[in-house]
Amino acid sequence: MPGLMQDWPLTLDRFLEHARRWHGDREVVSRANEGAITRCNYTDIHRRAKQFSHALLEHGIVREDRVATLAFNSARHLEAWYGIMGIGAVCHTLNPRLPAEQLAWIVNHAADRLILADALCVPILKQILPRCPSIERVVLLADESQLPPDLGAVAYESWIAGRDSGCVWGDFAEDTAAGLCYTSGTTGDPKGVLYSHRSNYLHGLSTLMPDVLGFSGRDVVLAIVPMFHANAWGLAFAAPAAGAKLVLPGARLDGASVFELMETEGVTFSAGVPTVWQGLLQFLEREHVRPTTLKRIVSGGSAAPEALMRTYQEKYGIEVRHGWGMTEMSPIGTVNSPPDLATPALEQGRAIFNVDMKLTDDGGHPVPHDGKSFGHLKVRGAAVARAYFRRESENILDAGGWFDTGDIATLDEGGILRITDRAKDVIKSGGEWISSIDIENAAAAHPKAALAAVIGVPHAKWGERPLLIVQLKPGASASAQEFLDFLEGRIARWWMPEAVQFVDTIPLGATGKIDKKRLRADVIDPA
Ligand code: ADP
Repeated sequence: MPGLMQDWPLTLDRFLEHARRWHGDREVVSRANEGAITRCNYTDIHRRAKQFSHALLEHGIVREDRVATLAFNSARHLEAWYGIMGIGAVCHTLNPRLPAEQLAWIVNHAADRLILADALCVPILKQILPRCPSIERVVLLADESQLPPDLGAVAYESWIAGRDSGCVWGDFAEDTAAGLCYTSGTTGDPKGVLYSHRSNYLHGLSTLMPDVLGFSGRDVVLAIVPMFHANAWGLAFAAPAAGAKLVLPGARLDGASVFELMETEGVTFSAGVPTVWQGLLQFLEREHVRPTTLKRIVSGGSAAPEALMRTYQEKYGIEVRHGWGMTEMSPIGTVNSPPDLATPALEQGRAIFNVDMKLTDDGGHPVPHDGKSFGHLKVRGAAVARAYFRRESENILDAGGWFDTGDIATLDEGGILRITDRAKDVIKSGGEWISSIDIENAAAAHPKAALAAVIGVPHAKWGERPLLIVQLKPGASASAQEFLDFLEGRIARWWMPEAVQFVDTIPLGATGKIDKKRLRADVIDPA
């Protein structure tokens, strides 16, 4: 027997519609890649997004069509998201930091019809457009004055100017596709994760719980995590739902720029990857300044080093929540909210609502949740992928419907998850597993270390042994022994790195994580 409640499909337009009706004056601040700050509010975003929808419809975009964006976080990008999704088309976010070759492959695979790009991304467009025949039109997220003469693009501002803002949003099934985001393809071809309105809606609500992102309408949210990286962790939905002021920082994510924006806008909450938080911290330490309004940050995407969390919490009084997730999970899987500032939340935390997790051994058998036994982490939930776009016939779930995250983890009796490695990075020494993440964290706490990475190197007796690679802080010098002495007592004896190597820079991938594939090629097998 069906319940007797109203039909209210969970479509994403409702987030912005809610913000317009009940938080219409709440500000949305954008910093252009070129530096200028612009201000508007949710009412403006809503009106302009509808005008954009109108332009899309007039171009002939229909449900299920893919419209790509190649842009950093900005108000125009936000309008584009809602304008595309509102009419049932699919917003395909492209990561401008990917190599042009991979971007072209992704655009072709998705068969994108339009591409919206920042003026900053014109050089990338010039490389990929000749290889992307499905693109019918390029819209530059800019005004007429920023249009390069030779691109054949239209300016977003001219394209939406004077258009009607009355088009209808929603009015389709909640399982309609809304967004498309390709994983970076560190193994094999990139794979498209196709979010639905329902999955993003439910994920957006889950992120708003007090122990997840936990911000309210009184907060000022700085969305550092890019809108092209795994759905911006749901911020583009959660902030309008809560009625929070939203600050969109563009491409400048260095410590000085982030700090300046935080201070001028009164930012209270922010979310991003650990390398951004490292950069901000180095700036604070160097300039002897403190954030005056920031209360909480969420760090995810790769393991947050203990030293980083401690410094933010103990020295600056800023709560650090450690989050884990992946593109296939929309993306948040777990969050760890520390009980107080004196106790950093080192592990990756508890499953958020709508996510279920388990650990198995290589044969798929359950691994005990004792906080010690390592296992393959498998997940299922309302916002977890069940197949990849245009690869629907490949089964990516096990017989019980669980998705293998490719991560190795422990779970303790209290349900706290600790990621020890990616399965492909785990170091197998004498039949036992060594966690590269734990050694990296311990080494990164050395006062002279800017960044630390650990990879497995072949070893005649043990199969594999850890090699520690360190990027020192500018101007610092250190010996290998100094680092080995520092690790003494901080990690198990048999985990002690075989050697320590210093490099000028540890390579980072397109989403700001240490690129171990490149590191291995550079360090173990230099050409
Ligand atoms: P990719 O970086 O391959 O494009 P994602 O951005 O979806 O893909 O990354 C997901 C992966 O990032 C996870 O499977 C996990 O290995 C890693 N990861 C994310 N957050 C954390 C964290 N807090 N600690 C350790 N690893 C993390």
